[in-house]
Amino acid sequence: MSNEVLSGERTLQSLTFGYDGLRRYGVEVVQDRVVGINPDTRQVTTDSGNRFDFDACVVSPGVGFKWGAIEGYDEQIANESIPHAWFAGPQTQLLRNQIESMPEGGHVIIVAPPNPFKCPPGPYERASQIAMYCQHHKPRAKITILDAKDAFSKQGLYIEGWTKLYGYGTDNSMIQWISAAQGGAVEELDPDTRTLVGLVEDFQGDVVNIIPPQKAGAIAFAADLVDGDWCPVDKRTFESSRHKDIYVLGDASSASKMPKSAYAANSQAKVAAAAIIARFQDKEPGDPTFVNTCYSVVGEDFGISVAAVYNLDSDTNTIEPIPGSGGVSPANASPEIRKREVSYAHSWFANVINDMME
Ligand SMILES: Cc1cc2nc3c(=O)[nH]c(=O)nc-3n(C[C@H](O)[C@H](O)[C@H](O)COP(=O)(O)OP(=O)(O)OC[C@H]3O[C@@H](n4cnc5c(N)ncnc54)[C@H](O)[C@@H]3O)c2cc1C
Repeated sequence: MSNEVLSGERTLQSLTFGYDGLRRYGVEVVQDRVVGINPDTRQVTTDSGNRFDFDACVVSPGVGFKWGAIEGYDEQIANESIPHAWFAGPQTQLLRNQIESMPEGGHVIIVAPPNPFKCPPGPYERASQIAMYCQHHKPRAKITILDAKDAFSKQGLYIEGWTKLYGYGTDNSMIQWISAAQGGAVEELDPDTRTLVGLVEDFQGDVVNIIPPQKAGAIAFAADLVDGDWCPVDKRTFESSRHKDIYVLGDASSASKMPKSAYAANSQAKVAAAAIIARFQDKEPGDPTFVNTCYSVVGEDFGISVAAVYNLDSDTNTIEPIPGSGGVSPANASPEIRKREVSYAHSWFANVINDMME
């Protein structure tokens, strides 16, 4: 929902939650940075020197960025002037402020990352939310998505929405999508002029938002939980394939064919919790079922979604969508259905927060 901060539809405060709900269930919450997870001594070490013994350790550190993939773009520039805004927080607000103070007729550039990355429909929802704001406040603004890919999640539905709402496909389109094949892949940034150097041509923006290529969060590398960029797991339990008694879930895990989404992470957490309880009771873990839904608000009263229920193919250790269990919302749906999907999006958010935090 942090993309809605960019259109002014909501505040960061509305996305900020505490841990009191967990404490009410007797969970001890420690806010500290984990610097080591030792699979042999079964101990977690934190930045402030605390040590915690574990029988089972669940690790969900999210994604990290491949800094250096785009020459000239680094963490300091992201914090100060060219935000990635891919962790909701100060950079989201910075990006919102930049869009608000951009001149009428200004140019916003969003650089979308290669697969796999957190929230596959996110960059395209972001473009839509910025367009939604500009339609009212800066109607001559242009938003260009420079993409490292040739296709993206819910593409047909996005294009339908952009065509209806923002003139996509015409010379006056507010949104332009440049695929990798069309020269959208970016190699370098000049932060002073906000110019992106592509393979075919350069692009200059008034506001630039770069979402860098991704990998598992740093602690996954420090704790030797990765194979390549992501953490391999036994998908029946989400126990690490590299170290026993450590469970990795969410964006950091390699959970093909589930996307890297909050709903997927929530669903995997339940499977891991059930597997840990079974283990403590000397029982075999059950056959897991997973679920994911991802809503995107493309414009006012215009929502779209993709949903699936999954089970495990044990032979291939792959999480497969159950045929007929979901799919994308219908193309050319009635205005009533599109409007309803916006309210579904917001009620999904309320429900998942309630499930996790309250
Ligand atoms: C713009 C945007 C829109 C999105 N929209 C949706 C949506 O509509 N629906 C949906 O399902 N998903 C959405 N997502 C994706 C969703 O946010 C992520 O998939 C989800 O947050 C993944 O959960 P996680 O637990 O794996 O990682 P995170 O939520 O990133 O949590 C990781 C946590 O671990 C902490 N951490 C990391 N390292 C350490 C350490 N060493 N010590 C202590 N703590 C540490 C981090 O501070 C962080 O709090 C969106 C993402 C973005 C960026």
